[in-house]
Amino acid sequence: MKLLPVVTATCSLALLAAPARSAPSTGSPFYGDPPDATHPWAVHDQNRPQPKRVEPGTFSTPEQPGKPPSDAIILFDGTAASLARWESDPKPGEAAGPTKWIVKDGALECVPKSGYIRTKEQFADCQLHVEWAAPTAVQGDSQGRGNSGVFLMGLAEVQVLDNYNNPTYADGFAASVYGINPPMANALRRPGEFQVYDIVFRRPVFRDGKQIDPGRMTVFCNGVLMQDATPLEGPGGHLRRSLPVAFPEKGPLKLQDHGNPVRFRNIWYRPLPSRAIEGGTDGVLTAEAATAKRKETAAILRTDAGKLSGTAQMLRLAESLTYDKDAATAAKVEQLAAACVAGLKALSGAAAEAKKGEALAVQRALNYLARFQFVPADYAPRAALNQLIKARGWDDAKK
Ligand code: MG
Repeated sequence: MKLLPVVTATCSLALLAAPARSAPSTGSPFYGDPPDATHPWAVHDQNRPQPKRVEPGTFSTPEQPGKPPSDAIILFDGTAASLARWESDPKPGEAAGPTKWIVKDGALECVPKSGYIRTKEQFADCQLHVEWAAPTAVQGDSQGRGNSGVFLMGLAEVQVLDNYNNPTYADGFAASVYGINPPMANALRRPGEFQVYDIVFRRPVFRDGKQIDPGRMTVFCNGVLMQDATPLEGPGGHLRRSLPVAFPEKGPLKLQDHGNPVRFRNIWYRPLPSRAIEGGTDGVLTAEAATAKRKETAAILRTDAGKLSGTAQMLRLAESLTYDKDAATAAKVEQLAAACVAGLKALSGAAAEAKKGEALAVQRALNYLARFQFVPADYAPRAALNQLIKARGWDDAKK
C-alpha cells in the first residue's frame, strides 16, 4: 500500500482546522470503527486504496459489437490478426497448431469437425465478455441445434446453444453451467442474431487437498441474469455427476466445436482481484492476513510520521496505533500529546484561540483512542486536554 502524501497532508490540515462540533470528514483517520482481527481497514478508512480508473466501453447492439472497457484484454476483435491469439486444442500429448476456425465478416466461425479452439493466453478469475450467433438456417433440435460452448479455464462450460423455440434438458440450456445448473430464464434472440454473454468466474480453490471455496459463475445473457454466483460442483460435464476437484492456477479459454458453424465476436476479459482466501485485502480475512496488512499500514504511517513534527506527528502516530498496538509508539504518542497539551496551556488570548481547532482535533483523536481502548479511559493527556477545553469554554457540545 502506498499513502497518497498530498491527500494525507491535506487531511492533517483539514483535521487541525476542523470547527467545533462538526462531524469529521470522511478524510479523518478517527472516524469509523477501527480495523479489527479480520478486517485490516477501518470503516470508511482513508488509507484504503482507491478503486482504479477504468474508462467504460460501449454496449453492443445486435448489429454492431460494442467497445470494450479500457483495461480489457482483447481475445478476438473481429480481425483476422486476432486469430493469432488462438490455437487448436490438441489431444493430450499432441502439440497445438493453428486453429482451423475462420474469420468471416468480423466473426470467428467454428468449422465443424475441426476441433475445439483455445486461447494461447491462460488466466483464471475473470469478467468475460463473449458474443455468439447460432446459424440463421435452423438445423437439428435439442442439443443438436447451434451448439458450442464457452469453457472457462478449459474446464467449466457455459453452454452455447440455439434454444430459441428449441427445448432441451434444462441443465444443458443456453447459459447453463453445463451439467450443473440451468439458467434462470431464456432471453435468447432469434438464430442468426448475436447474443451477448457477460460472465463472472471464480475458480474453485483448494488448500492442502481440501476445498475452501467451490468457485462460482455469474452469467448474464443479453443483459438478463442467468446464473447468480452459482457454486461450481467441479468442472461439470456430460452424463456424469460432477465432483469437486482442484483447478489449476490458470487455464485457457476454450470454445467448443459441437458440429455447428456457430460464430463469435467481441471476446474480451478483465482479470479479477484476488479473493481474501488468495491474498486479497478486501473482505473478511484470516487473523494472520489481517494482522500482516494492519502492521504494513502501521509501518507506512510511522514512516510518514517521521517526516512530521509536533501535533501532526502525534496524530499520525496515534492513527498508526489503530492498526497496530505498539508499546514504543504508544509511549511516543503519550509524550507528544502531553507536550501538545502543555503547549496549549501556555498560551492565552488570541494565540490560544488560534489553537482551538487543533485542540478539538486532538481531543477527537484521543477520545477515539479511548473509545476503542487503544489507550486507557483515564489516559492522562486526554483528561488534561478535556479539562483545558472545558476551562476555555471550547467544548461547544456541552453548551
Ligand atoms: Mg456445448
